[in-house]
Parts: sequence; structure tokens; C-alpha cells
Amino acid sequence: MSDDLSGFTARILQTPAARRDPHGALSTPVYQNAAYEFATADAMELAFTGRTSDHAYSRITNPTVEHFEQRIRRALGAHSVTALNSGMAAISNLLMTVGRAGANVIASPHLFGNTYSLLVSTLGDFGLSVRWADTADPAAVEAAIDADTCLVFLEIVTNPQLEVADLSALSAVCRANHVPLAADTTVIPFSAFRAGDFGVDLEVVSSTKYISGGATGLGGLIIDYGTFDWSRSPKLGRAASAYGVAPTEAFTAKLRREIHRNLGAYMTPQVAYQQSLGLETLEVRYARMAQTTLELARALETTPGIESVNYPGLPSSRFHALCCRQFGPTPPGAMLTFDLASRRACYAFLDRLKLIRRATNLFDNKSLAIHPWSTIFGTFPEEVRRRMDLSPCTIRLSVGLESAAELLADIRQALG
Ligand SMILES: *Cc1c(COP(=O)(O)O)cnc(C)c1O
Repeated sequence: MSDDLSGFTARILQTPAARRDPHGALSTPVYQNAAYEFATADAMELAFTGRTSDHAYSRITNPTVEHFEQRIRRALGAHSVTALNSGMAAISNLLMTVGRAGANVIASPHLFGNTYSLLVSTLGDFGLSVRWADTADPAAVEAAIDADTCLVFLEIVTNPQLEVADLSALSAVCRANHVPLAADTTVIPFSAFRAGDFGVDLEVVSSTKYISGGATGLGGLIIDYGTFDWSRSPKLGRAASAYGVAPTEAFTAKLRREIHRNLGAYMTPQVAYQQSLGLETLEVRYARMAQTTLELARALETTPGIESVNYPGLPSSRFHALCCRQFGPTPPGAMLTFDLASRRACYAFLDRLKLIRRATNLFDNKSLAIHPWSTIFGTFPEEVRRRMDLSPCTIRLSVGLESAAELLADIRQALG
């Protein structure tokens, strides 16, 4: 954990709601309402035209969701945080805010499956194109940038390849070419790593994962660090003038005053309440999960029956030095993969697990195992799966709160 982040949990715990609860409730209640009532027509006009911070309708803002957003915004020192009802809603809202027909996004094909499909198929149909580049190679990213590039989008640690992006190098390339850098940071939570310190302008997170605290529901976040000057962007430069905001505030203005209202995927108050509780224990849970993952990865490297282990926190990973430099002393995430001799061996292994659950999802309190080739990517054509560097012999493990010894014992017995 870097020094900048010490105090993360205290800031999360101590950020007050915008208004004191009339009953003095110590946690922000679930405001489970769609609409809000006004004393006068004047007050109503002021709220609807954004001249007061009164709530008007829960698709746009809600007190429970707002408090959740503000706790994160304050803990990170970001310009804005927007909570959506899934990680994919966060990613699609971000891309719809920045993208336009005729523009391109630079990304690696090593993407979360739905993000890949969103870019290639869903948004491709609206004229936004993708230029593939190896985001582990800043020179390749620079070569792919052209006058129509509206964004470089990457995952800080790709899933399930576990490739680590060198954010300082990539953000230098983006800065020099006046292109914003967006990162999906789901694999390493912001309690341990503040992406804005490494030049990330826009961050997206699936809060379904670590933040929900036990996989209680779906959620997503868009964090705008307010570090990118949008005045050269044809779309957001115009938005800055239209909304009368500074060029560094154009993204949030466009997102909050237009895109997220029109797409209608705001987080629900019930989920915001549950994820607020998850946020309070995030730092503690993550530190334990990441430490267990490193211990387990080390032990699996010498476990008979396992062909290879991939975890960027291991000295055997080509990303080890970068991880130490970038992520500091906390091991890089609670996900690892290992290869067995064959696809059949993977299925037999999964079928014999007793403690570890056979399920998708990541960073639940329970450890989860899956065979990505046949499930998450099971409907992708084989050549696309090969291009994504997936293998039919890989098991992905998401490490929960059990001890390393218990997990290792289950893995050893399941290897047969
Ligand atoms: C899970 C995940 C998503 C999508 O999030 P949902 O909450 O399931 O919509 C996006 N990116 C990464 C890296 C993920 O792990």
C-alpha cells in the first residue's frame, strides 16, 4: 500500500452524507424512492435545471447512491465518481461519452469478454471502431494512434492472461499525443492502487467484485480524475462550451448531464447501500486475499500435476519488476491461473473440488474456479480465443478469504 493511500478506510468511514439524516441514522439509509417532492414551483425549476443540488428523480441522482459516490470520490481525491448498475454499464457509459461515429478506440484484444464484444459488435454498429495494439508495448500503442483516436482503453491487469500494463509509459505516450487514457482497474482495487497517480484519466471498476463484499449484487463505477484537457476533442470540446465548464470537466458534464440519464443505468439505492458496507472493509479484505494469492501461487509452482502457474506477483512472471514498481508491496490482485496437462484434466480437477466453488465471478469472499476457455469465452470462435492468448488447459482461480493452507489442501486433493 503506498503512503498516499494510508487513511483510505478512515476517509471512507468518515465522509459525511451531503445532508444530516433527520433521525441521526449512523449509516445512510436506503432511499428506495423514484421521485422527490418540492415545496414550490421555483424550487422545482432550480433543481431540474441543475442550479441546486436537490434530487429530482432517482435515475439521475439519489441520496444513498450519492453518498456511496462521494465517499469514493473523497477517498481518491477524484473530480467525480458515477455509480452504475454493473461494470458493463460503467464501461458502456464511458465509451458512449467519449466515442463517436468515425472515431477509434485503441485497445488490446486481451479484454474482458463483454468489453471486447461491446467494442467490436455493439458500438462497431454505430461507427466507433477499434484499433488493436499490444498494450504491454507502449511503442505499439503510439504507432496505432491517429487523428481520429478518441481513447486508449486497457485493463491494468488483463483477465485471464494476467498481463500488466506499464501505466507511466503508456500515459506518457497518451499525453504526448493528446489522447485520454482509460483503465479498467477491477483486478486491483483503489484501496491499494490509485490509478490517477500513474496518469490514468478515467477509471472504470466492476464494483460487483471486491467492493460488493461477498458478491451481493452488481455495480460499476466511473472515476474521472479531471486530469484530461478535452478542448481538442471535437465532441467533448463542444460539450465544455455548451455546459460552460472548464475543459478538464467536460467528460463529467457530458456524462452526468446527458449520457447516464439517457442510458438509464444508474446504480439502485439497495445496491449502493450494500456496496457502501463493502467499501468499509475493502482494504482489509483485499490485503488478506492478495497475500493468500501470493502464498498459494508460490506453493502451486512446486505442486506435482501443475504444468505452470501464472501470477504477476511471482518472480517467474515477466511482469514481476513492473508490479513491484507500480503496485507497491501488496501482491497484485487475488486472481491467478494455472495450466494442467489437458482440457480433460481441467474438467476432472474442477469436478473434484470440495472447498473452492465452480463459478464465474471474481473476488467474492469464497474462492472460485473456472475453465475460461469453455465458459466465459465458450461462444467465441476458436481463432479469436487464440488471438486472446487463451488456452484450453487453463484454470482460473479467484482467491477468497479462506486460508492458503485450506485452499492448497483442496487443490492438491482435486489434482488426484
Ligand atoms: C466483471 C468484470 C467486468 C464487468 O463487470 P460486471 O459488473 O459483471 O458488469 C469488467 N471488467 C472486468 C475486468 C471484470 O472482471
